[in-house]
Amino acid sequence: MDVAIVTVGDELLVGDTENTNATWLCRQLSERGVRVRRVTVVPDSIAEIARVVNEQHAEYDAVIVTGGLGPTHDDVTMEAVAAAFGRDVEPNEQAAEWLEARGYSAEDLTAETTHLPTGCRPLANIEGVAPGAVVESAYILPGVPAEMKAMFDSIADEFEGKPMHTVAVNVAEPESELLDRFTGIQERFAVRVGSYPGEHVTVKITAEDATEAEAAAAWLRERTKAPARSGR
Ligand code: ATP
Ligand code: MG
Repeated sequence: MDVAIVTVGDELLVGDTENTNATWLCRQLSERGVRVRRVTVVPDSIAEIARVVNEQHAEYDAVIVTGGLGPTHDDVTMEAVAAAFGRDVEPNEQAAEWLEARGYSAEDLTAETTHLPTGCRPLANIEGVAPGAVVESAYILPGVPAEMKAMFDSIADEFEGKPMHTVAVNVAEPESELLDRFTGIQERFAVRVGSYPGEHVTVKITAEDATEAEAAAAWLRERTKAPARSGR
């Protein structure tokens, strides 16, 4: 399963807020064997959100959109995603019932709080107020990290891929000198190879098949220098 993440908010683009939602979602999805193919940051603009969601919905199995759900004038995500699917927003009864059950009356809330895309599946917000929604394969989640995480947990089972196995090998050689060995691995094994330089280079070998990942790691260990004090 291939997924795109769209994070919405001017505050992300000016550097006031660190995009921790994207990082958290990437980790959750990767751990489930889902491949995240794109992370996009877009401003609070209906046209720009709609364009990106429309493009990425055509390209990937699902799109997760976070941020810009509240009822304030700069929160336009619901309207934008609805527009991407040629829909309007309308008051959603289920969302209104959830909020009433938690003690919010219609007068307490701005009307737009329960306006969701026509024909969507609403998602309850157990940590906050603004509900989320699913439209076709686009999932709309809040921007507040605690709310986003709780809502993602409620739909996490809808995201599944093939679990991947990763083996890390530490190497005491400069990354640039390892290219021949990286090519050698790719020629011999059905694995993905990532290298992460630091005190030494950590090579991460990932495969669907654990035995294949281990075999590739063993091949690399035999052909590289181990760091003095690091276990491999
Ligand atoms: P609200 O209902 O409070 O308006 P919202 O769903 O509309 O919530 P935003 O208005 O986009 O969300 O952002 C609310 C808060 O969450 C802000 O403090 C913002 O900085 C933070 N936030 C938004 N997007 C992200 C993100 N991608 N990573 C981390 N924090 C974020
Ligand atoms: Mg907001």
